[in-house]
Amino acid sequence: MNKTKIDSNQDKCQTCGGILRFSPDDGALKCGSCSSIEKIDYSKNVKKHDYGVQEQTTKEYNEFVKQNKVFKCYSCGSNIVLNTLEVSKVCPYCSSPCVIDENEKIGIKPDGIIPFKFGREKARDLYKKGIRKKWFIPNIFKKKPPIDEMKGVYVPTFSFDAKAFTKYSGRLGTQRTNSQGETHTSYKTISGTYNSQHSNVLVETSTKLDQATFNSINPFNMADVVNFNSAFILGYSLEHYNQKLEHCKTIADDMIKDRIKKLILSKYSYDFIDYFNQDTVFSQEKYSYYIVPTYQVNYKYKNKNYTTFMNGQTGKVGSGYPKSAIKITFFVLFILAIFTAIAIAFFAL
Ligand SMILES: [Zn+2]
Ligand SMILES: [Zn+2]
Repeated sequence: MNKTKIDSNQDKCQTCGGILRFSPDDGALKCGSCSSIEKIDYSKNVKKHDYGVQEQTTKEYNEFVKQNKVFKCYSCGSNIVLNTLEVSKVCPYCSSPCVIDENEKIGIKPDGIIPFKFGREKARDLYKKGIRKKWFIPNIFKKKPPIDEMKGVYVPTFSFDAKAFTKYSGRLGTQRTNSQGETHTSYKTISGTYNSQHSNVLVETSTKLDQATFNSINPFNMADVVNFNSAFILGYSLEHYNQKLEHCKTIADDMIKDRIKKLILSKYSYDFIDYFNQDTVFSQEKYSYYIVPTYQVNYKYKNKNYTTFMNGQTGKVGSGYPKSAIKITFFVLFILAIFTAIAIAFFAL
């Protein structure tokens, strides 16, 4: 057993020269030929950058640029980061051969990574369990979950931190029904200020995931973020960021504002919102470029392609699976039946 800490641009076994791959179950690199284990650095002094300040001109960054290239998939549009040691590669999303795009600059270097927590074998088990729990999944998939192939892809995200100061005002309505069955509405005017602190607001910047699908496999446990090291990518794929930092920042700001609105409103009791105005100012804004693990399963159902994503850290299965129209219809009918029953009981009084 070799215990040397490996250099991030080395993918050959020091014992036999075989090919090293990241093995999440060992939390280390494993040789495909002799099963030797080589440790990976799990340091956690991950950088957070001040938003709006140009950075990353260090020696470390220059090394990253030298060692990695961006490959473009011309059939599905995704950009893949490839260590220059890896010679041939196919697109992790559509399996087409990737072509180097010399115009595509590698841009910023990832600050941190959440390494895959489990290997493909366990991923298959967790996926089957997770998909069976989905309410509207067609019955044939409950018996035999669709799992043609399972791919492990690290997805690019920007993580944002900020302090927020909010001024708000609004009017909330409450409705009461008296014994004669008359509904009376009363209003309450609210206003105030609200201070809050937000950290690790994750925004995806992948070509294949949208924020809603990404949210469906959230949360990630951010305590597991370690310094980026290419060793974690060996045997997996890494997608390059697709959207610019500035674009992701506006999405994060909206997510935070939405969260603040919910926090403020949770202090009041009301039946409906008449209006709500909010003015939020951010300060101490920071960002990091993080890479997070996802497993994905591609399959066809009734001539349509589906990709179901799974969190590669927690095993949570997200959206993106076929839904049975019959099950949804029955569910809607069931809800309607309940409402009808309540209405009948109410008018019978
Ligand atoms: Zn070996
Ligand atoms: Zn592709």
